[in-house]
Amino acid sequence: MSEPTTPVKKKRKVVLDERLQAYRGVWVYIEHERGRVHPVSLELLGEGRKLADTLGVELAGVVMAGVDAGAEARGYCQTAFEYGADLCYLMQSDVLGEYRNEPYTQGLTVLVNTYQPEILLLGATTLGRDLAGSVATTLNTGLTADCTELAIDPDDRSLLSTRPTFGGSLLCTIVTLNYRPQMATVRPRVMAMPEPQPGRSGRIVEHGLALAEADIVTKVLEFIADDRRDTPQLPFADIIVAGGRGLGKPENFQLVRDLAKVLGAEVGASRPVVQAGWVEADRQVGQSGKTVRPKLYIAAGISGAIQHRVGMEGADCIVAINNDPDAPIFEFAHFGIVGDVATILPALTEAFWMKLARHSAENSPHPNPLPLAGEGANERCARPLRLDEEPA
Ligand code: FAD
Repeated sequence: MSEPTTPVKKKRKVVLDERLQAYRGVWVYIEHERGRVHPVSLELLGEGRKLADTLGVELAGVVMAGVDAGAEARGYCQTAFEYGADLCYLMQSDVLGEYRNEPYTQGLTVLVNTYQPEILLLGATTLGRDLAGSVATTLNTGLTADCTELAIDPDDRSLLSTRPTFGGSLLCTIVTLNYRPQMATVRPRVMAMPEPQPGRSGRIVEHGLALAEADIVTKVLEFIADDRRDTPQLPFADIIVAGGRGLGKPENFQLVRDLAKVLGAEVGASRPVVQAGWVEADRQVGQSGKTVRPKLYIAAGISGAIQHRVGMEGADCIVAINNDPDAPIFEFAHFGIVGDVATILPALTEAFWMKLARHSAENSPHPNPLPLAGEGANERCARPLRLDEEPA
């Protein structure tokens, strides 16, 4: 957890209502679907652990599930313990079998009112956004959506939630002064995944929900799986090759796809090329697209505008290709190549293809020949290389 980027200026002094002063502890809502805990919940446990340690309080997971989930639900709690939770609140009920806003909102509201946490974090997923908004409303508290940083104000223990504002050109830090819990959502891959501690255990606190099916308006008639569910997900890709407007024309986007294919990478894009219809909308990286955290991010013909940067600066190694040596992306890329994408992308594709072909011919025991996040990857590029220049 880093210091907030934006200093908090002239924060109003507010004496919390005596009842709210009793709220203690940091909670993370453990989202799960079809037997799997969503990775964003594990990332939030890592962040929640730091907040809880700063505050000197416990970190709790919240698991809500149908009664028939049985041992599976306890398995989610065990996963939460291994990723840093000290305890888990487990609520199981017949009405919690499939996610529906109404029973989940009631359930989470009951848990918060009973056990009174000071901070409640949820993933900014489709489910998390839906649940966070309605729970904040029923609890009459503040919610900061899509945070990029979370920190604790040492003066008064309040949560400092930082997020982009004014179209991403500014970062603002939001504080919930008068209400508890302080709620925040964070998108997948914004926070780093913590190291699990296998076998780490914790307490399970079970709590029931007095709500009958007859009292719920929405009904789940059928579950229809997304037929694209097996396609790889951009936020979790290890290697991404992304293209921007510098590619010049839609046909040139094939150069990005070719390099991605050779590297076994996913394809990403900046917003203008998505808007121009060169590539599918779910490939967009950035503030209004996906947040990614790959080991290697190759940006071809992308200027590095702040709205793109916030979605990919968590990559271990950023390689930028741009014909303008003063392009903003060179300020935060680890390696830069100054040149025309139409020349460099095919050259890289061929070089990697030959290297990988040679590698597999030699049948090396090392499956990945690329120095992905190796030495030097954490230093930003001091000066981009020109194509006709020998590296030092
Ligand atoms: P440009 O800014 O046009 O940059 C093209 C780059 O290619 C330039 O640096 C140029 O030097 C280089 N170039 C040109 N020709 C060549 C060549 N032949 N070889 C090599 N390099 C070349 N943008 C996103 O990407 N994602 C978002 O999620 C997003 N959300 C936004 C949300 C809001 C509210 C707003 C206002 C904007 C958002 N944007 C987003 C848009 C963002 O501000 C930028 O306009 C966008 O990122 C620029 O895309 P680009 O780098 O592809 O294009």
